[in-house]
Amino acid sequence: MNVAVFSAKSYDKQFLSAANAGQHELTFFEERLHRETASLASGFAAVCVFVNDELDAETLQILAANGIKLVALRCTGFNNVDLNAAAQLGIKVVRVVSYSPYSVAEHAVGLILMLNRKLYKAYNRVREDNFSLEGLVGFDLHGRTVGVIGTGKIGLIFAQIMSGFGCYLLGYDAYPNDRFETIANARYAELPELLANSDIISLHCPLTPETEYMINAEAIAQMKPGVMLINTSRGKLLDTRAAIDGIKAGKVGYLGIDVYEEEDDLFFRDLSSTIIQDETFQLLQSFPNVVITAHQAYFTADALEDISETTIASLTEFEQGRPLSNEIAAKQPATAK
Ligand code: NAD
Repeated sequence: MNVAVFSAKSYDKQFLSAANAGQHELTFFEERLHRETASLASGFAAVCVFVNDELDAETLQILAANGIKLVALRCTGFNNVDLNAAAQLGIKVVRVVSYSPYSVAEHAVGLILMLNRKLYKAYNRVREDNFSLEGLVGFDLHGRTVGVIGTGKIGLIFAQIMSGFGCYLLGYDAYPNDRFETIANARYAELPELLANSDIISLHCPLTPETEYMINAEAIAQMKPGVMLINTSRGKLLDTRAAIDGIKAGKVGYLGIDVYEEEDDLFFRDLSSTIIQDETFQLLQSFPNVVITAHQAYFTADALEDISETTIASLTEFEQGRPLSNEIAAKQPATAK
């Protein structure tokens, strides 16, 4: 099958080509898929896309008019696809329901340790032969309370790791999972209790209309002074302006993010020689207690292998007319991305 792969980076080519082993004809486009680039898919049967490709109704109409019958998301979440429009146009949508959840959970823990022990500052200091410890004092994770919002595949593993540090875990989930409370020192709580009692709050729920800006000024006001916020889930779960206000007021003591609500125009490319126009992002970068990574939490060889194998298997199922194991139905509530 002829597949147009959008937002393709060297690593996508490497891992997808290895999993494909010549089964499908993959054409890699560096461009992001959106309404202006959708015509590149002319002559292909399927498109393969990632988190920041924009599959709104207009883009899907162009794809359908160009003969596209399948959208294969090489990610878990699908908040960037208008599923109803796809269904109306007869385009099937598949995703990678799960891949190494350890990748994202471990990265969230990495952000915590970066912030807690100020490792990003320590690294730079030592590189400059500055061996002073002034300003590097951290705090033990042992005995601290960690709030986990979303206790699905990633949240559960994150909670297990934090439990290993000797933390207390408060979980909040719209659909609680029996396994969470089997973790040592973990129990479910209502959201206000979690917000009020956690020293660290980590977001692991999907972006849906219900969760958009769930961490806003009102939520931040309920938190402990000096709280650490970690977001490896989706940028729009956090109201960035409210987080900035919280940092300026000293209410938010640490912010670690792998996702940003306006990341589409920034992440996954080298902009080091350009002037970044996003003043909110630049302001965030200026704070000494903020650590940002550019949507790399998933980025392990293990996860890339899982993603590529599932994506190629979905393409093969579609080509052979078999039931699609990873199909997203139009009426299904949006889950992970
Ligand atoms: P999952 O579907 O296994 O778990 C999500 C959990 O969130 C579920 O338990 C669900 O019940 C819960 N949830 C749904 N709506 C909620 C709500 N309104 N309030 C509280 N909880 C709610 O998904 P996962 O595989 O654990 O992924 C979690 C998130 O991680 C994804 O949504 C995705 O946005 C993000 N993610 C980020 C990266 C990255 O590289 N940064 C990679 C993969 C996934």
